[in-house]
Amino acid sequence: MFEYAPAPENRSIVDIAPSYGLFIDGEFAEGKGTFKTINPANEEALSEIALAGPQDIDRAVAAARRAFESWSALPGSERAKYLFRIARIIQERARELAVLESLDNGKPIKETRDFDLPLVAAHFFYYAGWADKLKYAGFGSDPRPLGVAGQVIPWNFPMLMLAWKIAPALATGNTVVLKPAETTPLSALFFAEICRQAELPPGVVNIVTGAGDTGRYLVEHPDVDKVAFTGSTEVGRQIARSVAGTGKRVTLELGGKAANIVFDDAPIDQAVEGIVNGIFFNQGHVCCAGSRLLVQESIAEELLASLKRRMATIRLGDPLDKNTDIGAINSEAQLARITELSQIGESEGADRWSAPCELPDRGFWFAPTIFTGVTQAHRIAREEIFGPVLSVLTFRTPAEAVEKANNTPYGLSAGIWTEKGSRILAVADQLRAGVVWANTFNKFDPASPFGGYKESGYGREGGRHGLEAYLA
Ligand code: NAD
Ligand code: MN
Repeated sequence: MFEYAPAPENRSIVDIAPSYGLFIDGEFAEGKGTFKTINPANEEALSEIALAGPQDIDRAVAAARRAFESWSALPGSERAKYLFRIARIIQERARELAVLESLDNGKPIKETRDFDLPLVAAHFFYYAGWADKLKYAGFGSDPRPLGVAGQVIPWNFPMLMLAWKIAPALATGNTVVLKPAETTPLSALFFAEICRQAELPPGVVNIVTGAGDTGRYLVEHPDVDKVAFTGSTEVGRQIARSVAGTGKRVTLELGGKAANIVFDDAPIDQAVEGIVNGIFFNQGHVCCAGSRLLVQESIAEELLASLKRRMATIRLGDPLDKNTDIGAINSEAQLARITELSQIGESEGADRWSAPCELPDRGFWFAPTIFTGVTQAHRIAREEIFGPVLSVLTFRTPAEAVEKANNTPYGLSAGIWTEKGSRILAVADQLRAGVVWANTFNKFDPASPFGGYKESGYGREGGRHGLEAYLA
């Protein structure tokens, strides 16, 4: 194999301030304390971030409420101008944002640069286009915004989840208080600067930083009309309980344990690429990751040999190196969770194999790993690991594949690999999953709705469907 020369992206492309305040009513303000965000690839502290307490949330919600009056009264075509402007600034500043996201999150620059940021801009462009066409969206002749949206997002796609939340909310005339995850606040704070650069009226977007408590104050605030959450099923349950009976509208996008089903007639090399992309993309920190490989028994041996050969070429290391495929695990806590579930997999009797790769000394790392000999009773077949760990199960008939694929409390996504078009349609029809990919995986487009069944949550984001969550 070739040796690769280092190909580092320039870290100094982006300026990171030593500290950041809360973004409330168009200004940066102090919170009730501070916390640090680190680079998980080397544990270096990147910046000190304001911690929002209940009073700060009060102020942010009040600012959003004040701004709602004039923002919701603007013609859609005027709101669209701001959204188009934001989309263009994101494109212009995409390189800065890609570096910032890689530093704060640990994900490889080739993903932030080629996946996250282009999709972020596309999402704003897409919803900008809807802003003046809402009465033709199929939700009545005069759909109205809900008011103030309280939005809480996770750390796996910080800027993309922000776009999924903010773009449809603003297009429909709502105002926003958004809380990014505590390990990845920097791109949301950069977005606050973009709002100023776009001259978005103060209070339309407010960014409050902090951990779970800050999120809880926000979603429980009595003057929030709409709650949008992406994160763990456990927190999603708490939120569903806390808003029950309040009249708040809620969308929840929670975990997943997707089946990636490979039939015996699938093109093996293509399927292997899809399996690798399905579970090792973004270190496996993906709610729709193809974390359960269901492979037809007759090709299992050949496919696994091929998969291991391919996995041996995966490059793990410096997220800012353009050749890196797998970056750092986002946090020490997440690494501990992945490590623990993998040990449980071993102790329950599954066979563990990890790609041969050297892990850096500092930072949080986990080698791409597969477990074979997994049965449906194993915890690694049922629980979301949210890391670069694949559980492999086999099946004999299409009916058995469907039965196993659906045997999960989740239902976010699934994949089907076969040459037969009729089989794709027949199997997809029986899968209880919000998104089913055929002969591909992890493909996203702003025009396509995304969301789950069962414990994966409710409501849809993206596409025309995504407007409904923000309209009365
Ligand atoms: P989490 O659900 O605790 O955090 C997600 C967001 O919710 C963060 O911004 C967090 O600060 C906030 N939050 C936490 N507690 C809250 C509360 N009570 N009220 C309001 N907001 C609250 O997720 P995590 O602890 O970062 O990760 C744990 C597991 O969740 C992962 O291992 C993974 O399985 C799953 N997860 C899923 C997704 C997804 O995209 N579906 C994203 C992140 C994590
Ligand atoms: Mn960080």
